[in-house]
Amino acid sequence: MIKYVLWDIDGTLLNFSLAEAKAIRACFEEFGFGDLTDDRLDEYKKINMKYWKALERGEISRQEVLEGRFREFFEKYSYDTRRVAAFNIRYQENLGKTYVFNKNAYEAVRYLSKNYIQFAATNGSAVAQNGKLEGAGLDKIFKESFISELIGYEKPSYEFFSYVFDRVGSTKKDEYIIIGDSITSDIAGGLRVGIKTVWFNPEKIDKPDDITVDYEINNLIEVKNIL
Ligand SMILES: [Mg+2]
Repeated sequence: MIKYVLWDIDGTLLNFSLAEAKAIRACFEEFGFGDLTDDRLDEYKKINMKYWKALERGEISRQEVLEGRFREFFEKYSYDTRRVAAFNIRYQENLGKTYVFNKNAYEAVRYLSKNYIQFAATNGSAVAQNGKLEGAGLDKIFKESFISELIGYEKPSYEFFSYVFDRVGSTKKDEYIIIGDSITSDIAGGLRVGIKTVWFNPEKIDKPDDITVDYEINNLIEVKNIL
């Protein structure tokens, strides 16, 4: 029944947290901002998450996320806010050069490649996402990568998935499954358009009561039990 697998990238196949820290620290050095302490990095991550959630809810634009998060962070710690735009551009480039696989990610994708057609379905910028996918060699396995910046819509919007169905060439919902770590973008999006969902939950956090998932896995190798 299932023919097409849609993979979330950040936090699912790739460890976004480590890549993010590396990319920001590289920017801090380039911009002469000094060492980035763990406390400040944690604060940035909180601010960043807040902006992405607002984007998922459709409250702000993508550009407001990319620059707004750094503006708020810079203001909080008195870094030069005039350098926000340039900093973000370099950050995207550095992010594109940095990838760290999550445990068993490559094995899972390789395993599925025998029987399924796989795609990336990711919220992010083209520079960063394409860079990571190429670096990790995933672009050679995936038939196509769906990147929200290029589509003009984010997961969990209906429009994002509608674009995917058009490009894949099938609107049969029972032929699709999405695998991702985010309840608010991957699972909510999958539920919205009526395709099967796999929630990757490595930290074993509690599932919100109002959300149903078809499958929950804590280790990516468990896709072998599903597909
Ligand atoms: Mg994710």
